[in-house]
Amino acid sequence: MEMNEGTPTIDMLKNFHIAASGSDDDDNDGDNNDCGDQVEDDVCEDYDEDDEESRDEPVTLGFVEKPRHSWSLLRQVFPSKAGGLPAWLDPVNLPSNRSQLCDICGEPLHFVLQVYAPTSDHDSTFHRTLFLFMCPSMTCILRDQHEQWKRRPEEACRSVKVLRCQLPRSNPFYSSEPPRHDGTDKPLRDGSVLCNWCGTWKGDKACASCRKVRYCSEKHQARHWRSGHRSACQHMRVSSGSVDDSIAQGLTPTSGLQKSASNNLWPEFEIINEDESDYDVDLTNKEGDLNPGSDDIEGATDRSWLSFQERIMKAPEQVLRYCRNVKSKPLWPMSSGQPSQADIPNCSGCGGPRCLEFQVLPQLLYYFGVKNDADSLDWATIVVYACEASCDGATAYMEEFAWIQLSSPFTALP
Ligand SMILES: [Zn+2]
Ligand SMILES: [Zn+2]
Ligand SMILES: [Zn+2]
Ligand SMILES: [Zn+2]
Repeated sequence: MEMNEGTPTIDMLKNFHIAASGSDDDDNDGDNNDCGDQVEDDVCEDYDEDDEESRDEPVTLGFVEKPRHSWSLLRQVFPSKAGGLPAWLDPVNLPSNRSQLCDICGEPLHFVLQVYAPTSDHDSTFHRTLFLFMCPSMTCILRDQHEQWKRRPEEACRSVKVLRCQLPRSNPFYSSEPPRHDGTDKPLRDGSVLCNWCGTWKGDKACASCRKVRYCSEKHQARHWRSGHRSACQHMRVSSGSVDDSIAQGLTPTSGLQKSASNNLWPEFEIINEDESDYDVDLTNKEGDLNPGSDDIEGATDRSWLSFQERIMKAPEQVLRYCRNVKSKPLWPMSSGQPSQADIPNCSGCGGPRCLEFQVLPQLLYYFGVKNDADSLDWATIVVYACEASCDGATAYMEEFAWIQLSSPFTALP
């Protein structure tokens, strides 16, 4: 396949942000992010699109902002967030070893974002959060492309993973009363000790020498050792080794606060929700240079790309489109590389079908500061499908399914 004029590139997508900055960010500062209302909102919408197959279900858009308070992203206030460290909903029964790793290179996965999306379906979905992780290696994502097309493989081999966790209102970790959002909310108990290096995954392996720092994997132990633990470790052994000292030096994770010794995390943001229908006005100005007939876009342009652009331009800074609905379809940037229903595997817990939950847009890469080099992380969209029944699985974190559509037609493995 040749790359043609109309092929979306990360540049074009990032330009959405640049073109739009400074426009309408003032009127959306109300308090938000209240658990739950994002899903139930059923405002009627009325798009003037000629694309009748996507008879639109209401979509909630997610935008990233720097957290407003030091406590805004703590697990006890049930945040939706991107970058930084996950705010584990169940802080004790953390995901298993296999869920932590890129199946292609074996490296622990990086946290991308989490979406708090409770439903009123069952008692057990009173709290419900989906977590998205990925391997930052583009090589792995290109291999993952081949894996995602394999229908019902014996064992999926993925570099992108989604985990779903849910809890009833009455649970051992949080008060059954809603958070007060004033900085005084506390969880009922501490979480498991996390890996000192990534701060993300369960730290169930201790450094054999000092026995004080913990890791999720040998890879992270080795990396921490090379980046300075080699000398810190000795110091920790000879000093009478009060744990408080090592906490002060950032060497040991405190139980309440998550920390990471690595500076490999993506920058941290709060995700703020808005209804897409709020953006239905005033398209004329923004749309001017996007019409199919305009100079720089030729007839070869991907039709999906045009309707994608048109829809996204209503709110160009969106990083997330949330629409959990059996009938709804994602907004695909490209016409190639879309899965059919049969390509979405059924839930591994209950065997039932999965439905669309949300999609992540490449604007997030802009906020994450991902470079535009040939081998940099890049995708057009990541679509997350989750068990339609939100079943309670055998483990606290159930693996769901992500589909990646790449932003340019990669065909061969490097
Ligand atoms: Zn990988
Ligand atoms: Zn780790
Ligand atoms: Zn050590
Ligand atoms: Zn299920």
